[in-house]
Amino acid sequence: MSFAHNSMADDLSYDLKAQKVGDGVYVFIGSTDHFNRENGGNIVNTGFLIGETGVVVIDTGPSLKYGNEMRAAIGAITPKPVRHVIITHHHPDHFLGNLAFDDAQIWAMDETIQAIDREGEGLLENMYRMVGDWMIDTTLVKPGHSINQSHMDLSGRKIQFMPLQGHTKGDLAVFDEKSGVLFSGDLAFHNRTPTTPHADIVQWMHALEQLEKHPYNVVVPGHGPVERDGRSFKQTLDYLIWLRKTLYQAAENGLEMTEVMRLDIPQRFQSLSVARAEFVRSVAYLWPAIVEETLPRLYD
Ligand SMILES: [Zn+2]
Repeated sequence: MSFAHNSMADDLSYDLKAQKVGDGVYVFIGSTDHFNRENGGNIVNTGFLIGETGVVVIDTGPSLKYGNEMRAAIGAITPKPVRHVIITHHHPDHFLGNLAFDDAQIWAMDETIQAIDREGEGLLENMYRMVGDWMIDTTLVKPGHSINQSHMDLSGRKIQFMPLQGHTKGDLAVFDEKSGVLFSGDLAFHNRTPTTPHADIVQWMHALEQLEKHPYNVVVPGHGPVERDGRSFKQTLDYLIWLRKTLYQAAENGLEMTEVMRLDIPQRFQSLSVARAEFVRSVAYLWPAIVEETLPRLYD
């Protein structure tokens, strides 16, 4: 995979703007669109915490360029060094900026590290195809540190880890005790239709119940605006319940996959970004297993 370095690439910028969401806690809020050549893969929320002795980064974005711009934006706010990076899960928009932080300790759940081992190269190649020049010089950097503990003190910030699953096989929610900011990773989407390429819907629903019970002041969802009343949890759960019910119902009614993709989407989900496109993708991902699961019942 080689993309010539050219002047076009030098003009590209994510124009990252840090938004303060708590005491020493900042986020970069991405677009709620699909990956494309205008947003360069910046469809994701990332963030950072300023501790006594250093900075903790949460997710590194879709590319080296994003990671570098993130690092520069952090440097404009604090002179403290980035010492730790936490990766919430293995999706490409969340960790392909790791190379920009390869002098820091990069932490993730074992499940995430294994998924990067299995799928990382493919995910990286796919990003080059989708957003092109924005990916220049981006290479795979695997997290070198595995998270097995529920609490850690990182640069003087007390962090709580919630190892969950459902959006993928390893979804880490990160809670900063001082500010009460809860980073949900992609377990929560806000005003943006959830994606399901690696989803286990039932496990995801359980994870959302856990998150809803956890105290917080601010929720930073994986995609979409930050919120303070848990509405991203409720919205994601509501969508997953509808999606699952709709697919099982369709299987029982003997629909074809193309018919399922054309089913009505309720009004309350039509206002979510990329509602139809993401529903169609979810049908493609989830339908085969549901058909397999429901078929034997039909012939019992
Ligand atoms: Zn994801």
